[in-house]
Amino acid sequence: MPFADLELTDPRVKAVLCKIPRDRFVPEEYRPYAYENIPLPIGYGQTISQPYIVGLMTELLALKPTDRVLEIGTGSGYQTAVLAELAAHVYTIETIEPLAKSAQEILTRLGYDNINFRVADGFFGWEEASPFDAILIAAAAEEVPLPLKEQLADGGRLVLPIGAPGKTQTLWRITKQNGRFIEEEKGLVRFVPFTRRE
Ligand code: SAH
Repeated sequence: MPFADLELTDPRVKAVLCKIPRDRFVPEEYRPYAYENIPLPIGYGQTISQPYIVGLMTELLALKPTDRVLEIGTGSGYQTAVLAELAAHVYTIETIEPLAKSAQEILTRLGYDNINFRVADGFFGWEEASPFDAILIAAAAEEVPLPLKEQLADGGRLVLPIGAPGKTQTLWRITKQNGRFIEEEKGLVRFVPFTRRE
């Protein structure tokens, strides 16, 4: 089974990675590589994340079936599908409109009906739908966008890469507990930059 040998600890996350057809989320010329554990180009200078990193970030979110999740950086929609399988509802924001449209088409065709899409700068989050039990940012910012921290529910988890673009970044999990934020470093990663909209 594809991705069955990834070094992940949560069997539910692994099962979801094995179930979702990743080839549907990548451009035709890269389909032969869809089940390799590597990132692939999806156009507009962006990439579909490496399956292991998708799994790791999902594990760190520790999702419950009742959770409401915010995702920044829809990209191909692959990570969105993983979140939609494990949580109650996913709100996903992407700045590049054609990517958001394509992801929405693919996810609708695959039958997901628990996802809301928005084309916007994810820096501001999705205030009307907040607070969120979990927030995932799939692009590297140099610091944590404050509005996103503020949109975490008590007990909520925010997982994101922090660091300069083009360099290796640090993966962080920030948990809100009794109004305070607990920050944990979770290893090194490499993501496309978090870009602000003019
Ligand atoms: N999880 C996605 C990752 C896509 S790459 C996948 O596996 O396909 C990260 C995405 O974040 C890119 O599509 C990029 O356009 C988007 N992005 C970057 N900065 C953003 C911002 N400020 N708001 C929303 N999306 C952003």
